[in-house]
Amino acid sequence: MSEYDRNNIFARILRGEIPCKKVHEDEYSLSFHDIHPAAPVHVLVIPKGEFTCFHDFIELAESKRIQGFNQSVKHNIKLLGLIDGGYRLISNFGYNGSQTVPHYHVHILGGKQLGGLLPFDNLTR
Ligand code: AMP
Repeated sequence: MSEYDRNNIFARILRGEIPCKKVHEDEYSLSFHDIHPAAPVHVLVIPKGEFTCFHDFIELAESKRIQGFNQSVKHNIKLLGLIDGGYRLISNFGYNGSQTVPHYHVHILGGKQLGGLLPFDNLTR
């Protein structure tokens, strides 16, 4: 975990300094369409507050906020119409996880059969 960068792009979206294609907002979260969609449906859900990653969020946020955020993710999945067809949730962290924006976020992906988990699924090493 590193110190929270208040100028990261999602912090700026939360403050309304940068526009986003909003899907939903509530007390605990904001969600919006990913600017470079990797699937027909690709939405990011971010918690309100200063949390760098999943670890940070679970360690620092109050239970009420963690619960509220997870309920928001579920609500977004319903709003996006993904329950019947299925979906994938991803949260990247750190170098190996290839996180690029240091504000905790969950990717919701769906709208087609997404195939294997990673391009290197068959890697046995
Ligand atoms: P990650 O690599 O897990 O940190 O994911 C960051 C995601 O944020 C990437 O999928 C980007 O395409 C997306 N992204 C970056 N800037 C914006 C933006 N201004 N609006 C929407 N999505 C963005």
